[in-house]
Amino acid sequence: MPVSRLIQLIRRAKPLTVEEGLNILKRDHYRCQYCGLDGSTSFENYLVMTVDFVVPRARGGKKESRNLVTACRPCNLIKGRRVFKNFEEAKAYVLKRREELRQEWEKRMARLKTHPAGA
Ligand SMILES: [Zn+2]
Repeated sequence: MPVSRLIQLIRRAKPLTVEEGLNILKRDHYRCQYCGLDGSTSFENYLVMTVDFVVPRARGGKKESRNLVTACRPCNLIKGRRVFKNFEEAKAYVLKRREELRQEWEKRMARLKTHPAGA
């Protein structure tokens, strides 16, 4: 492993503590900053709330509040380790991808209604 890669790994930001994570959720009013899902309206919504590193830790993103946003787990998964110029670009990507997935789901459910399994 090249030394530069080793240094990069050592410098990677540590995971958030529970307290640090809760501070970000509070700042964002428990709302996913990508899709707007509100974690304060139900326990089920709250359960899927995570804190996203806008610039991923794996890509050298720092553990600073300006690099951290509340994200529901689906948005966080969709964004993955991609790197964007800024948060707005990341948000546009996540929302576009969600819409594509929604359309695929709608087609699948429509087929299910017109051609139920076994019919
Ligand atoms: Zn979301």
